[in-house]
Formats: sequence, C-alpha cells, structure tokens
Amino acid sequence: MDSNEFDVIIVGAGPAGLSCARALKGSGLRVMVLEKNPNLGMKICSGEISPKVLPGGNIDRGMEWKELVVCTEGSRQKISYSRPFLWTIGRENLEKHLMGGCDAEIHFSEPVSSVAGSHVKTPQGRYNYKHLVGADGAFSIVRKYLDLPVEHIQGWAYHFVLDAPCPEFQLCWMPKTFPKSYGYMMSKGRSRAMAGLAWAGDFDPKKAAKARAWALKHFGISRHSAKSEAMKGNADYRGWKFGKVYLAGEAAGLLNPLTTEGIYYAVKSGEGVARDILGEPEGSRVMNSLARSHRWQVLFFDLATNPELPFCWIINWILKDPRKGIRRKVFDWVLWKLMLG
Ligand SMILES: Cc1cc2nc3c(=O)[nH]c(=O)nc-3n(C[C@H](O)[C@H](O)[C@H](O)COP(=O)(O)OP(=O)(O)OC[C@H]3O[C@@H](n4cnc5c(N)ncnc54)[C@H](O)[C@@H]3O)c2cc1C
Repeated sequence: MDSNEFDVIIVGAGPAGLSCARALKGSGLRVMVLEKNPNLGMKICSGEISPKVLPGGNIDRGMEWKELVVCTEGSRQKISYSRPFLWTIGRENLEKHLMGGCDAEIHFSEPVSSVAGSHVKTPQGRYNYKHLVGADGAFSIVRKYLDLPVEHIQGWAYHFVLDAPCPEFQLCWMPKTFPKSYGYMMSKGRSRAMAGLAWAGDFDPKKAAKARAWALKHFGISRHSAKSEAMKGNADYRGWKFGKVYLAGEAAGLLNPLTTEGIYYAVKSGEGVARDILGEPEGSRVMNSLARSHRWQVLFFDLATNPELPFCWIINWILKDPRKGIRRKVFDWVLWKLMLG
C-alpha cells in the first residue's frame, strides 16, 4: 500500500478515536489517528467515569466518589452511598490506557485542516482513506464537512480551575436564577478541581459574567488567584454513518445533555463504528441503542429544564431535600440509572 493510503483514518485521539482504533487492533486494516494536540489528555474535562465505562477493565480508576452535595436556591444537602457512583480517572490516564490497546499509527501535533470525499489534508501531508471517522469532538471538522449543524442541544461550561484536589462533588440546580443550567464543583483530573456553571445554548459573554460572579461567591473563590476556562459541548445527534464517513462521540453529538457525561458515549460509539467498519452487525446494534438512549436523554432534558412545566418544579422539590422518603427513592433510582446505564 502507498505510504499515504489508509483503510481507516480517525480524526481525534480522544476517548472516541482511541476506542475506535483499539477495536480495530489486529484487524489487518491500515489505521491512522490524526491528533491536533501534542499530547493526550488535554481536553477541558473533569475526567470522571461512571461504573458503565470499561466494566471489568484492568485499569486504575482513581479517586472514588461515594458522596455528593446537592444545592438548590436555598438548600444544601449531602447524600452518601456505600459504593462509588463515579471515579476521577483523569483524562490522561484514561487516554493512555486506551492508547495502550492500539496498533494504529498515531500522529500528534497533526491537525486535519480540510476534508474531502476521499482524502484529508494536514500541514504535514495529504492522506487518502477508505473510511473516515470523525472523532474530533464538539468543534468537529468532519461534522462541518458533512454540513450538519449544532443547534439542539449545544451548551457551554464556564468554570474556575482550583489548584487542589476536588474537596467535594457538588451539583447546583437553580431554575429561577439560572434556567437550563447547573452549577458544579468537580475534579479536573486527579490533582485539581473546577467550579462553575454549565448552560444550554450559545456562548454568551453576559451569561459567562453572571456565572463568574455566582461561582466566585458560591464557592468562595479568590478573584485574584483564580484562572477560568470555557468549553463547548455538543448533544445534537443527527446520525453516525454517512457513506464512508462516520461520526463518533461528541462529533456525533453523543453527550448526555443532562449530566454532560460524554466519555461513556465516546468509548461505546468509537467501538460501535469500528465494528461496523469490520462488517459486524453488532456495530449498528450498538450505535442504534446509543441513539435511542440519546433521544430519551434529550426529551428528559427538555422537560426537566423548562420552568414553564411542572416537571421542572417536581425536580426542584426532590432536590431541595433528597435525603429520605419518596424523594430519596426517586433520586437514587435516577442517579443509578444514569450511572449504570
Ligand atoms: C467542563 C466539562 C467537563 C466534563 N466532564 C466529563 C466527565 O467528568 N465525564 C464524562 O464522561 N464526560 C465529561 N465531559 C464530556 C466529555 O469531555 C466529552 O463528551 C468527551 O471528551 C467526548 O469524547 P470525544 O472523544 O468524542 O471528543 P474529545 O474528547 O473532544 O476528543 C476529540 C479529539 O479530537 C482532537 N481534534 C479536534 N479537532 C481536530 C482536528 N481538526 N484534527 C485533529 N485532531 C482534532 C482534539 O484535540 C481531541 O483530542 C465534560 C465536558 C466538559 C465541557
């Protein structure tokens, strides 16, 4: 085969791209992953995984979370479990683990700058593909080539980065002050924390300023020492297979808009796409099942975050004190459904 000819080119070495490459290992196909960053693990992300990610995998899952703090406008409650609902593995550790299972050529610092029907270009060269996988996240160039918009639902996260391990896992539900949003304190990898607000919709400097003022006060952050950052999320799913071009992970919009959990969907869809390329019916079964779950997540998100609907206020009532009785039962059921899948 010519040195610039590939059976599969994967754009992006995040969880979706690396899982796809991993599932193609030993297939005999010539696979290349093109990654714009110089290293793994650079995505702005908390790096937390739920029990459904890589079940049974021989992997150090990191710091475990058995407690969460739920805040609403006017309440703060701690909920404890006997087993972890999340672990902070950290992006770099997760991606190193995934990369360890690949035999693909992986090129770092090589961004794809254009996509065409049978080739992609980077500053270093032009490569021909038989199959192209867009695993390039929320700003996907492959999705743009397919001319798919990102509308319902996209969102933004804006937070401060705190230079110490995350002291608690906190979620804040404030439909009066911040409709279609939630506040959070979560890990940023294993040694830092991030505290801020995520909202559905475009990036809006006014919203970011309001989120900033709220986060400084709510989390008691010192204005002078804190660095901030923002990142987009894409939960607008419009399909995964377009002839010989595929989308996986957030490039496909496979992100749970309610929890912003995306690693699981990236890993599963990366594997699903690989199985389809290998001609295995399991591939489309996995992808169709992810698409079905995603439709439910979007419906639930739309109902839960619309302050005009009673559902939003029922959730508010549950979250005001989810420690006992029927509220605890509903809270536990939803949490474990989300975490276990
Ligand atoms: C603040 C925040 C916190 C989050 N925390 C969590 C969490 O704790 N747990 C969880 O499950 N989900 C979390 N998510 C969601 C999660 O980060 C994503 O859903 C997940 O990373 C999607 O994986 P992916 O492989 O599809 O895309 P990405 O992880 O975005 O990977 C895409 C890769 O493609 C590369 N790339 C992009 N463009 C190009 C190009 N043109 N050429 C070459 N390479 C390119 C990027 O550099 C990147 O490495 C969080 C999201 C945000 C915004």
